[in-house]
Amino acid sequence: MNPIIVANWKMNPQTLKGAFELTKAVRKGVRSANANVVLCPPYVFIPQLLAAKNMEIGAQNCSWQEQGPLTGEVSPRQLKDLGCSYVILGHSERKKELGETLAMVQRKVAAALTAKLRVILCVESVAELRTLKKKVRSFKNVAVVYEPSFAISTQGGRRVAPRHIAAMVSRLKKVAGRNVPVLYGGSVDAKSMRDIMTKGNVQGALVGAASLKAKEFIALVKNAL
Ligand code: PEP
Repeated sequence: MNPIIVANWKMNPQTLKGAFELTKAVRKGVRSANANVVLCPPYVFIPQLLAAKNMEIGAQNCSWQEQGPLTGEVSPRQLKDLGCSYVILGHSERKKELGETLAMVQRKVAAALTAKLRVILCVESVAELRTLKKKVRSFKNVAVVYEPSFAISTQGGRRVAPRHIAAMVSRLKKVAGRNVPVLYGGSVDAKSMRDIMTKGNVQGALVGAASLKAKEFIALVKNAL
């Protein structure tokens, strides 16, 4: 199975020009790599980047509602209709900064799967995954990300030993299902990628800061192979 490398751009870059330049450089650099590279820009850039083609584009969030009165939200169906294939859900920043609860994440996962999006589901613990799994019938189109918030580059960036990651992967797979890919997220860069893939036993990574630097991100993708 090809590794899945998901770029979480968060609220970056600040201009459409910057988003185009980053996409163009990454597309050129990873063209021949046997990896599923997914760029997740802010909502506002998605239509233009999809029009530029040849990259998988995902969103960083979606509503739990299919349609209706929910000011400021974007439905999974709208994302699917645009041409998005993935959505990141359950990110710890949304829980911490925006008060997103596990109950909300459960509903979002169900709505995204109904809209036929693939879900990149962030969890910090096995208990969290167990709770989320209760309301979701099948994890067929889900990839789980083990992402402890203390490991995120902007929240301390503590290094997690690959053997600890491997132990978590095995525990998460017991809950999610053997065939569900498990990725790792938290300060992954080109240098740490290879060890995390091989010793951490993951199927890919969710990448924040390092995904904003084209050269670093391209090297990271190559080191995942
Ligand atoms: C993230 O927040 O999803 C993330 C992976 O960030 P970073 O790589 O910057 O730690």
